Amino acid sequence: MKAAWVLLLALGAAAQARAQARYAVDWSRLEAEMLERFTTLLKIDTSNPPGNETRAAKAVQAMLEREGIAVKLFAADPNRANLVARVKGNGRKRPIALLGHTDVVGVQRERWSVDPFAAIRKGNVIYARGANDDKDHLTAGIMILLLLERLHVKLDRDVILLAEAGEEGSTAVGIDYMVREHWPEIDCEFALAEGGGIVESGGKVQDVIVATTEKTPRRLRLVAHGPAGHGSRPIPQNAVVHLAEAVARVGRWQTPIRLNETTRAYFERLAAISPPDAAARYRDILIPARAAEVDGYFREHEPGHYSILRTSVAPTMLQAGFRQNVIPSQAEATLDVRALPDEDMGRFLAEMKKVIGDAAVTVEPPASAEQRPAAPPSRLDSEMFRALEAVGRRMFHAPTIPSMMTGATDNAELRAKGVQAYGVGEVVDAAKGPLGGAHSDDEHITIQAFTTLVQYMWNAVIEVAASR
Ligand SMILES: [Zn+2]
Repeated sequence: MKAAWVLLLALGAAAQARAQARYAVDWSRLEAEMLERFTTLLKIDTSNPPGNETRAAKAVQAMLEREGIAVKLFAADPNRANLVARVKGNGRKRPIALLGHTDVVGVQRERWSVDPFAAIRKGNVIYARGANDDKDHLTAGIMILLLLERLHVKLDRDVILLAEAGEEGSTAVGIDYMVREHWPEIDCEFALAEGGGIVESGGKVQDVIVATTEKTPRRLRLVAHGPAGHGSRPIPQNAVVHLAEAVARVGRWQTPIRLNETTRAYFERLAAISPPDAAARYRDILIPARAAEVDGYFREHEPGHYSILRTSVAPTMLQAGFRQNVIPSQAEATLDVRALPDEDMGRFLAEMKKVIGDAAVTVEPPASAEQRPAAPPSRLDSEMFRALEAVGRRMFHAPTIPSMMTGATDNAELRAKGVQAYGVGEVVDAAKGPLGGAHSDDEHITIQAFTTLVQYMWNAVIEVAASR
């Protein structure tokens, strides 16, 4: 029995290695082309708002059509088109979708040392808005489709590129629109998008983070009500005072801890590669009797780890009053709530109301209705996750660590449709953390970090999609 199992494993590994060898790519020869495509896309200003992603979609369209790959554009708003391209397989298995969003967050130009839309190269580093988020994934998707076509890779699955608009806060024109109106065009078993990272320390890859789930943004407003009055006559019902107390209470509230399959595996695997002190904490957080103490440490020193243990609440905006001598009748706070994927929001809200304990303060939904859907984490035993683990071992001799993102991506909408969707990412420095330079001033990426991402994704895609 055991021998048969070992033989099966060996055969599986051999088949996978064969796919990579059969379709060998000379990456050094491709570097100039990859950089050319990457910089072309970085130079298109798709700051969202307003986005104007159609310009980027058209550039991608030209790159693919020039080599005979058919492209379709889908637009809820003509300036904000989404692009879908497909390299066909024999249909024996369901497709893989590669996502790269075409929009970027805006910039404060005066805070940049270079033009954010000129793709300035200094040595081995490219500076541009979108360099980490997300035109690197977009370029990877384009390169993978072109390579599949050029190498005539025999595929068991279609490989789809979805270059979607509106990821940065306007999903109504992007992933929500595609899922609702054009699902057959992107229907797939697996998806690879942003969200992970190849974590390097001192020039050596120590682990590969693959996001299998993410927290769900559930913004809330606290609204305090009271009588308006003259500022010269203080009253106990002052809405500003009631709001301030409520904000302080929810801000200090240590919401309950709950682990899931992803976060459990995350801490276990992180413990295995961490120095003794940290490893002890990552093991202790899994032991209920010791968890509270570690949680206290995370709260002070590791906010990312504090966040993935719970549905978190962070007050972010305050609004009250219009004149210094008027007591306003209403005061309002915005809470950035990030829910665990399986959170029961009704119960959570009831708990929050108890914590606030003030009838003058109501908890209300956000002004904007756009919400990411919640869904179970993607599996750790799927063909795609196993392939990512195998590629991580082969390319970097490093373990793969599943993670739950604190932020949100378009993978949320795909998971809600039952897709096994994974977040992968470029090479990041361990000291900077998993987000790398996304959304920062002087956003930049090293050429090696970018080209390694392309190779990593290519290896995973052919491992899962190429016919054996
Ligand atoms: Zn992004």
